[in-house]
Amino acid sequence: MKRVTILGCTGSIGMQAMDVVRNHPDDFELVGLSCGHQIEKLRTLLDAFYCPYVCVMEEADAKRLAADYPNIQFGYGKEGLLTLCRQEEADIVLNGIVGFAGLEPSLAAIEAGKDLALANKETMVVGGSLVTRLAKEKGVRILPVDSEHSAIFQCLQGEDHRQIKRLIITASGGAFRNLDREELKGVTKEQALKHPNWSMGNSITIDSATMFNKGLEVIEAKWLFDLPLGKISVIMHPESIVHSMVEFVDGAVMAQMGTPDMRLPIQYALTYPDREPIANSHALNLEEVGQLTFRKMDFERFPALGMAYDAGRLGGTRPAVLNAAKEVATQAFLSDEISFLEIEECVADCLKHHRAIEEPTLDDLVMCDLWARRYVRKRIGESASADNH
Ligand code: MG
Repeated sequence: MKRVTILGCTGSIGMQAMDVVRNHPDDFELVGLSCGHQIEKLRTLLDAFYCPYVCVMEEADAKRLAADYPNIQFGYGKEGLLTLCRQEEADIVLNGIVGFAGLEPSLAAIEAGKDLALANKETMVVGGSLVTRLAKEKGVRILPVDSEHSAIFQCLQGEDHRQIKRLIITASGGAFRNLDREELKGVTKEQALKHPNWSMGNSITIDSATMFNKGLEVIEAKWLFDLPLGKISVIMHPESIVHSMVEFVDGAVMAQMGTPDMRLPIQYALTYPDREPIANSHALNLEEVGQLTFRKMDFERFPALGMAYDAGRLGGTRPAVLNAAKEVATQAFLSDEISFLEIEECVADCLKHHRAIEEPTLDDLVMCDLWARRYVRKRIGESASADNH
């Protein structure tokens, strides 16, 4: 029986993780949950599952919930969240928080000696050097939940890390994979939110269309698998059947395949090293799929990927700035303040003006994250007021 805490339980990853827990009552015991503002969704979960500790964002929500669920202990805010990550009862913490906000909870869980099932890629993108050092020191495992990294992790079972030639991360290409840059000028958020293969949260679906998601995944892979970026490549694979591959020194290429269903990587991280059936999953039917196609990644069409490689290669606070700028610009696109192509422009401009710190502490990362957010907000505000004159 593994005792599990799920962070971000009302999000896309969190809800699917709850599904995994629901279907394996003998394997998992839920000991902690956190969510932000989706309180109605949380109430539905609390009516269906018993969980002793729950953390929300706002104090007012925690008080109202405590009155309605007297058997549950409620915390709130950042301190409540970090306390939840450290609670003694948990064996493993699944981090399904979106964005930079997931970094400190990851560090708190590792610090407390918990294994970490990691869906929050920003933990590695922004804090990779701190996080991997601490995990080593505390002897905890970081189990990837991102489908590509789970695929690589599965391909590496029983293999000697030194015999890896390179990792090959697959990219579906997102909603606009068949449009050229000229055609991208007028695209809307409604179009961007239609991912061809995966059903995910809004911000990551936009990140798929811009290719920033793949860029973050490349940096995440560097830290998770302790490899230089020169050994990590990306290939376009529109069907999303091969979830990623590992090429070994003898030329053998291992691939992990499956239908696009996030419950598999979520469950594998929780049951590792065991495998368990998944309720109502569609078996991969290759006869139906017919053919799998691959094409070379076009760095001119998707400049976000090159920006991420550069930030990841140069390191320091650059990936943190890339991520923060991307988060703000993506939100601005979702609220119709900027166009799709301006997302990239905002990030490139912000990176250009950043004065990087090479061996950042957590405080440095927090400071640079904040700087980048303000920088991009200001840039968007200025161009909006210029338009109005
Ligand atoms: Mg992914």
